[in-house]
Amino acid sequence: MRIDLHTHSAVSDGTDTPTGVVQAAAAAGLDVVALTDHDTTDGWAEAIAAAPSGLTVVPGTELSCRWFPADEPPISVHLLAYLFDPDAPELAAERQRLREERLSRGERIVTALAADGHPISWARLVERSAGGVVGRPHVARALVDAGVVGSVDEAFAGLLHHTSPYYVAKADTDVLEGIALVRAAGGVPVFAHGLARSRGRIVGDEAIAAMAGAGLLGLEVDHPDHVPADRDLLRGLAADLDLLTTGSSDYHGSNKRTPIAACTTDPEQYARLVSLGTGSAPATA
Ligand code: AMP
Ligand code: FE
Ligand code: FE
Ligand code: ZN
Repeated sequence: MRIDLHTHSAVSDGTDTPTGVVQAAAAAGLDVVALTDHDTTDGWAEAIAAAPSGLTVVPGTELSCRWFPADEPPISVHLLAYLFDPDAPELAAERQRLREERLSRGERIVTALAADGHPISWARLVERSAGGVVGRPHVARALVDAGVVGSVDEAFAGLLHHTSPYYVAKADTDVLEGIALVRAAGGVPVFAHGLARSRGRIVGDEAIAAMAGAGLLGLEVDHPDHVPADRDLLRGLAADLDLLTTGSSDYHGSNKRTPIAACTTDPEQYARLVSLGTGSAPATA
């Protein structure tokens, strides 16, 4: 059984439609795929309806969160959430707040870039995102289309990097609160790419222990941005804290070079995840 529990569609910052994601999943030989668009559940219905025969779709999302260290600025962390109730009011309200936060922050980034002569427009970007959840990959695409940079990667390495003067942080959810919201909605919270050092500062073991204390249920161990030594570290932490482990591609279509199914989840760990989720169910076509 081949299982990929982290993918994005054009409902957030991937490039495939939800239909395209499930088709790509089946073509890659997956038996199970989770759709985890940022801060939204809008792609679930289409992905489930379009799933080719034999493919199981796990409903999920990836919430933008922050960890607040004792005496340092907050650290950006991502929280995957699976099998929660999409109508649970408090979690739904927080997703809505995060989407609005993304819009105001995206507009600030684009306006500042445009003011300095980069020929991109917020109105055009919003039109192209077609009502989906906006992120830096959309700005990166706009910069590529305008000929400012040669690739999405180049945009992320320069103008959109978290150290760039154009970078604007979002008021993301306190991760401990995010974990509580997901659990209250019957979901399974899993810490996404926790040791992806290339993305910026990472949290220490004490943060992961605190998250476990707040109800975290899993760690994403096998991820394209994790080097082998960090996967071992995370696997050890998961064993110590009795957390389940996942492996996933974090597929974003052509916005990233990682193919779907680049990393996969152990079937026993997947069974554990399914047994813990009570807010919604995997859908098998
Ligand atoms: P944001 O959520 O708006 O801060 O943007 C971060 C998103 O951009 C995450 O979903 C990342 O997966 C994605 N991302 C980070 N680096 C790159 C890159 N080099 N190319 C494409 N997408 C990226
Ligand atoms: Fe993304
Ligand atoms: Fe992420
Ligand atoms: Zn992701």
